[in-house]
Amino acid sequence: MKTSDVIVIGGGLAGLMAASVAASRKQKVTVLTYGSGSLPLASGAIDFGSLENLPAHHPYKKIGLKACDEAAKFFYEVTEQANLPYVGKLSALLPIVTAVGTLKYSALVPESMNASNLANKKKFFIVGINGLKDFYASMLANNLKKYFPNKTFEIAKIDLHLLGGRDITCMDAAQLLTDNEQPFANELKALKASKDDAIIIPPILGVAGDFSRDVVQTQIRAQIIETTCLPPSPPGIRLQRAFMKYLQASGVRFFENSKVVRGITDGKKVTGVIVENAVREKIFPARKIILATGGFYSGGLTMRDFDQPREPIFDLPVFFPTGAENWSNMQLFSDKPQGFSTTGILTNDKLNPIDADGNVLFDNLHVVGANLGGCDKIFERSAGGIAIASAYKGATL
Ligand SMILES: Cc1cc2nc3c(=O)[nH]c(=O)nc-3n(C[C@H](O)[C@H](O)[C@H](O)COP(=O)(O)OP(=O)(O)OC[C@H]3O[C@@H](n4cnc5c(N)ncnc54)[C@H](O)[C@@H]3O)c2cc1C
Repeated sequence: MKTSDVIVIGGGLAGLMAASVAASRKQKVTVLTYGSGSLPLASGAIDFGSLENLPAHHPYKKIGLKACDEAAKFFYEVTEQANLPYVGKLSALLPIVTAVGTLKYSALVPESMNASNLANKKKFFIVGINGLKDFYASMLANNLKKYFPNKTFEIAKIDLHLLGGRDITCMDAAQLLTDNEQPFANELKALKASKDDAIIIPPILGVAGDFSRDVVQTQIRAQIIETTCLPPSPPGIRLQRAFMKYLQASGVRFFENSKVVRGITDGKKVTGVIVENAVREKIFPARKIILATGGFYSGGLTMRDFDQPREPIFDLPVFFPTGAENWSNMQLFSDKPQGFSTTGILTNDKLNPIDADGNVLFDNLHVVGANLGGCDKIFERSAGGIAIASAYKGATL
């Protein structure tokens, strides 16, 4: 097996971003992953959280503001090339409408979900699809009315003729609409909306940046806004496909169903990794490794006993808050972070893993994404931002 310049372990948002950045710099990149990570579950919006007043051990302190800005620019390049326009910047958040009708603010938002213009609209049509489960138009309308009490709301349903004896998901509808705007436009025309109105729909406008919202909007005149949805989430899948397209065009070798089980090390260098498949183990040599294996959800971290988390490939030390009183808050949705959610690998400024005394363990291994410790990414709403910014930095070092 040829030596790669960079091996990325993990095919979630952080791994896809790191591989894309490294490939854009003419590196020979190999991605090894055994699952798709959390993108198919995610909203598609990239939350950055706050970049200010952070403690020294916070991942953003290691990543730096410059890498955050450059990561956002690179992210725009990838999504634009895939015809998946995003809007927003790190310093000013944009609202998106959630599946239950609350507003969530995020930094980088799919253009089709950008709800910042809602205040200028007169009437909101909340439009469900016949047979679509998990889209509750009246609940959504009731909650959205709390933000916009003076607007007129109308609830409607359209039929995409998808019912085949089972409930349909947003993915089913999105697949039907891929490259196929007209049936949808015809259904919406019946609403007789005007250019001053907004049509709020579940996220069904294609699965890979190949549905033209403009084609439909020109015909019906109203603005169409997608909400978030329960998984599987078309906007998350569109983003995953945008990165895959970029990787394919860049000649990156991408191995699915490839579980990395161990690293091969020589002092402070990792010289390769071992992948286990059904038949045998295979060695992948590399000059640099990017560890983007995610957190507990994806198996990047494991924990058999509650206070003894592990990183299973390189056996890196994993930070976990000491003292049972610091593990969690009694209230899950309190105004403080949850201690257990800060679990992860700590690094130096080059994202190399460090031990409890701050010693670098491997100087050509960079840790990126959800397996980084030191902050509660869900509480801070920084998961996507940390994923793309750490990936950018790890790939450019
Ligand atoms: C339901 C849900 C909703 C979310 N919504 C948002 C949102 O609205 N905004 C936002 O910013 N973020 C959101 N996130 C978070 C965001 O999607 C993740 O934090 C981010 O994608 C982390 O990416 P990651 O690549 O670090 O990890 P993951 O996505 O977990 O990917 C890790 C990858 O590593 C692979 N892997 C693990 N171990 C190995 C191994 N040994 N060998 C090979 N491969 C391995 C896994 O199979 C997986 O592909 C959401 C997450 C979830 C779960």
